[in-house]
Amino acid sequence: SPVIHYFKSDLRTKDNRGLSQASKLAQENDVPLVGLYIVSPQDWEAHNTAPVRVDLVLRTLSILKEDLAKLNIPLWIETVEDRKKIPRRIMELMDKWKARHLFANLEYEPDELRRETKLVRLCASQGKAMTVVHDTCAVPPGELESGSGKQYSVYTPWFRAWKQHIHDDEDVIGIADNIAKVSDKISGQLPKELFKSLIPQAPKGKRLTDEEKERFRDLWPAGEHQALSRLEQFCETRLSEYADNRDIPSAGATSSLSPYLASGSLSARTVIHTASDRANASNLNGGSNGFRVWVSEVAWRDFYKHVLVGWPYIAMNKPFKADYASIAWATEDSDAKFEAWTQGRTGYPMVDAAMRQLLNEGWVHNRSRMVVASFLSKDLLVDWRRGEQWFMRHLVDGDVASNIGGWGFSASVGVDPQPYFRVFNPYRQSERFDPDGEYIRKWVPELVNIEGNAIHEPYARGAADEARQAGYPEPIVVHKEAREAALTAYKRVLGKE
Ligand code: FAD
Repeated sequence: SPVIHYFKSDLRTKDNRGLSQASKLAQENDVPLVGLYIVSPQDWEAHNTAPVRVDLVLRTLSILKEDLAKLNIPLWIETVEDRKKIPRRIMELMDKWKARHLFANLEYEPDELRRETKLVRLCASQGKAMTVVHDTCAVPPGELESGSGKQYSVYTPWFRAWKQHIHDDEDVIGIADNIAKVSDKISGQLPKELFKSLIPQAPKGKRLTDEEKERFRDLWPAGEHQALSRLEQFCETRLSEYADNRDIPSAGATSSLSPYLASGSLSARTVIHTASDRANASNLNGGSNGFRVWVSEVAWRDFYKHVLVGWPYIAMNKPFKADYASIAWATEDSDAKFEAWTQGRTGYPMVDAAMRQLLNEGWVHNRSRMVVASFLSKDLLVDWRRGEQWFMRHLVDGDVASNIGGWGFSASVGVDPQPYFRVFNPYRQSERFDPDGEYIRKWVPELVNIEGNAIHEPYARGAADEARQAGYPEPIVVHKEAREAALTAYKRVLGKE
């Protein structure tokens, strides 16, 4: 009677709580352990999952399968077209394998939580056991409460409580034990076919072209070994300087670990532990400034997951506060403006550089994400949800909680948002965070020969002819006027607060 671990966004063998517990139970009872992964095209469709993210997941599965096979653990991969049928299919597989115990790590998106509940009920009604554990956050949702006993909606006091919680109870980020190798004799009890499951092709609508495959596979090598070595390299070369350079998109100063945290090749606990260790920090208030600031960024990921658990309707296309739903988004030319934004042809060099980086790499620097999100929602007054979906459809690290959180912050419509009257000036952002225009020149080749300050605003700073000849568009809106229009629209619903 094998024990099953149901993999989802936890595609790793190390520091995986559900898997580690499943392994322990299997060992204690001298029974085999089986990994299960269900490919669900409808879930990818519902979450607007980007083809580049699907490709990373499928490649990660192939490596996970090899890693597990070395431990005599099969990974059974199966596609279920109708996502409603997933829980029943898992029950059927358990019956076929004569398995009685299912393990999984909790996922907090509403559809996933509902599925988890259904699985627990089905298991109970069929005399099977299911163990679901918290794994994806360093501090599980529900552990922290504000003074009034509610879920925090403001980051700063939440972060204080988060750190304190970790300091009070080191175990909350205790690393899960490594899983044990299953003996040949025990794994030999399993049908051989279990070791032979194939990695499917990406479903229709989620496939990359050959050129994209090559490009993205170089940028985002898959699997937990790659992720761990990226983490080590970051800690060794960039962690201590992180606080100084993290806001400069051209500096390559951040970890670029988000795709691995999103697919679960790495756990949040492991990254915090490794960074503490490499920074010689005895606690989260120690070590270098770079270390402390980096941990506070990793904490944002936890924060937005906690927020999602507290207010799940934000994942259902609803704004955090009902008032935000009545912002009068622009109707005139909004499709054309949105299209220009998606293709990086707004005439605002920093915005265009970022949007082209997204199409090229499936990833964008955090500062650039904030600039383009502010630009779409405020300068173009286009409904932020269109931008949020576009991001999901192109990001290799697309994550429901962080993406909605980031858009809510930048568009001033989310939990703990940037005040609505702080409208980023895209030219100022460009001068501050790309002072030499290195980022712009990398992504906007039309402007590569423009020198000096004109790079930030070619049409108004003496480089109009060059920009025009190179085919670079003129600004599609005038920032000053757009800012006023945005303030009026926002004030109508938010300013009265
Ligand atoms: P580092 O600076 O090295 O940070 C380390 C890790 O901390 C990241 O890998 C990430 O897991 C976490 N982190 C850092 N900043 C944030 C943040 N502001 N919010 C949440 N987690 C954070 N992040 C995603 O993982 N998926 C998304 O879909 C996503 N969408 C975003 C949309 C918008 C509009 C904005 C403004 C931000 C979004 N972010 C998202 C957050 C952030 O931009 C990325 O996590 C970060 O750029 C990843 O780069 P990195 O791994 O080099 O980060």
